[in-house]
Amino acid sequence: MKRRTNFASACLVLALALTASVYAEEPLKVLLVTGEKHHDYENQKAILSKGVSERIPSEWTIWHHKTAEAAKQAMSVEGWADAFDVVVYNICHAVEKDKAFVDALCKTHHAGKPAVAIHCTMHSYHFTIAGKEGEKEWNRLLGAYSRRHGAHKPITVKKTVVDHPATKEMPAEWATTQGELYVLKKLYDTTTVLAYGDAGYKEGQQPVIWLNRYGAGRIFCTTLGHHNSTMERPEYLDMISKGIKWAAGKDK
Ligand SMILES: [Zn+2]
Repeated sequence: MKRRTNFASACLVLALALTASVYAEEPLKVLLVTGEKHHDYENQKAILSKGVSERIPSEWTIWHHKTAEAAKQAMSVEGWADAFDVVVYNICHAVEKDKAFVDALCKTHHAGKPAVAIHCTMHSYHFTIAGKEGEKEWNRLLGAYSRRHGAHKPITVKKTVVDHPATKEMPAEWATTQGELYVLKKLYDTTTVLAYGDAGYKEGQQPVIWLNRYGAGRIFCTTLGHHNSTMERPEYLDMISKGIKWAAGKDK
């Protein structure tokens, strides 16, 4: 009887171990939507997918569209995001005018599809969309409103006291070698700021890493990432990797 109990216990331990290893190795299905002008998206898609894959198990699908119109077509197909755990946006679609398209995009994330928004994504999908300044649906998704950036200067990144996996291991302060700091005109009260950036602007330091709760969706945002040299930093790739995990609800 005792031997049988021991055998049963051993089987249970083995089953739990196998289950744990399967869960531990389950890769996140990441869709990276990237493209248009003003940034080196060709190299950035490689920096992001390689750097994050080295840190967290992840399978990357990359949609690199040369135009905002091509991106719109891809993201207008019914169920376009269904196969992915999280959508990472590294785009610069500042002159999109189609409010119905942006509203539908936001609806996908409001319903729960996790998203990560990088740099010029913060200047996309609201400049030329009809509606009240700073209160358009993409602003609600981001939890923020920004229209401009200041002069190119290194940014000192200072993390806040918020205890969060995306910044837990980050040094209290670190500096980029190059930078393009976004100035925020508004931050929604659904956000939590994880780090500020200081480039010596007269407007003072600005939020550079934050998270937003948008309906059922987790949205992780950073305005850092204009230059490849910033994106290649281990501090940056660690933060984005953990931000992706958090957005996808895998932060436990
Ligand atoms: Zn930029």
